Amino acid sequence: MKIYKMFIDNAWEDAASGERIPSLEPWSEQVWASIPRGDTKDADRAVQAAHAALQSQPWAGISATARGALMRRLGDILTRDAGHLGRIEAQDNGKLLAEMQAQAAYLPQYFYYYGGLADKLEGTVPPVERPGFFTYTRHEPIGVVAALTPWNSPLLLAANKIAPALAAGCTIVLKPSEHASASALEFARAVEEAGFPPGVVNVVTGYGAEVGDALVRHPLVSRICFTGGEIAGRAINEAAARGFKHVDLELGGKSANIVFADADLEAAANGAIAGIFGASGQSCIAGSRLLVEDSIYERFIEKLVTMMASVKVGDPFDPHTQIGPITTKAQYDRVNDYICVGLAEGARRRLGGDNPFERGWFVPPTIFSEVTSEMRIAREEIFGPVLCVMRFRDTEDAIRIANDTLYGLAAGVWTRDLRRAFEVSNRLEAGTVWVNAYRALSYMVPFGGYKNSGLGRENGIDAIRNFVQVKSVWMNYAAPVANPFVMKI
Ligand code: NAD
Repeated sequence: MKIYKMFIDNAWEDAASGERIPSLEPWSEQVWASIPRGDTKDADRAVQAAHAALQSQPWAGISATARGALMRRLGDILTRDAGHLGRIEAQDNGKLLAEMQAQAAYLPQYFYYYGGLADKLEGTVPPVERPGFFTYTRHEPIGVVAALTPWNSPLLLAANKIAPALAAGCTIVLKPSEHASASALEFARAVEEAGFPPGVVNVVTGYGAEVGDALVRHPLVSRICFTGGEIAGRAINEAAARGFKHVDLELGGKSANIVFADADLEAAANGAIAGIFGASGQSCIAGSRLLVEDSIYERFIEKLVTMMASVKVGDPFDPHTQIGPITTKAQYDRVNDYICVGLAEGARRRLGGDNPFERGWFVPPTIFSEVTSEMRIAREEIFGPVLCVMRFRDTEDAIRIANDTLYGLAAGVWTRDLRRAFEVSNRLEAGTVWVNAYRALSYMVPFGGYKNSGLGRENGIDAIRNFVQVKSVWMNYAAPVANPFVMKI
């Protein structure tokens, strides 16, 4: 069994309390590792270290170019270690090894991209109308950043936050999910090897309500970057408001994937399946509401059912497995509860059934038809392999149903009609819209939610601006300032 320690001020530490949390393999339910159960004391140690690093040499005086070079070195180490990091993530959260290794192999791009951006953030010289003044703006690091991440894509969602924050010169305390912390601690080894000064990147572990809450409330934390569920997001937003902290929230979704009758139905079926059953549905962008035009509704469902009926559910390390387990027992119970809710609400289960294994938190892919907007399974985020298929009449009806949700993270549109593709994309209330595709993401493209799916955007060039504050400097190069109380007559 692996015994992990936290990474604070470039030292490997146990929790001040000495307590630990076991990490379980979701397919075997066996404990494979343990992580420290940090609390307020550990949060304070990490934030103090991050704050000291921000204020002192070498980080406070490092050039932006040197910061970028350090980040690219980190990218090289992550490239070398991608296979290992992917294996650790699959073991911890039970997602398919192939998927986690692909994510790990993509991770270095964040550090190359934002490392390259570090010395391209330029201030301005406003042509101020006041005579005798030279004014300029400086971009200064916003301060200590607390990054809080969920269990489904632990390192990718951490990189979204850490890479632009480092590029801007901030220091960071990362708190990964208590259900999947190992890869963040392995990542910290890469940070250490790359040669970042003590305190620049810290990783603390433990429960959200303990060490996570302590980070959010810590007076020396300036920005909170959170990816997770709505309940925690709301609590964090409230706490951030009390402390006048900046906040980014990447929350959940109930994304509509809309299939028009004129679409390439083969591609649309593949996209619908990837949209909901990838990562066993444990994906914020899951296309969990499939809207299908009336005229092809039955035919399309039958196609999906046929395609999914032979899918292999099982061990995420087996290269033939297509659907892995749910990461936690609590989430497994929640998904099963929602399946019961769907049946009770009158939705028709076209595919699904019981867990085929005695051990492990497996939910077979489930497809409900005859789902309507009032049903809870159409309104609430299930976060599991449960597809709700809804019916629409025409374009107006599709847009109305798609937008009839509190969420607004993503959406898909499948059509061959270019004019309709533009119109629907423009009118969907979602932060990301894919046309004839689903799930494409990039470090270069802004990502975030409308409505209850969050606040702010990650990724893309502008994300670095989240981590700086602008200072305006006025230089008087003309006459000395006159005594304001001497009247000129
Ligand atoms: P969660 O909200 O329970 O936890 C996320 C992180 O926040 C964890 O590290 C947790 O320990 C911490 N946390 C929880 N309560 C906290 C509190 N009061 N104060 C400080 N920290 C706290 O989410 P989860 O169950 O780990 O992940 C599933 C959720 O994440 C889903 O709703 C999913 O849609 C969402 N998600 C969103 C995105 C996105 O980019 N929008 C990506 C992945 C997952």
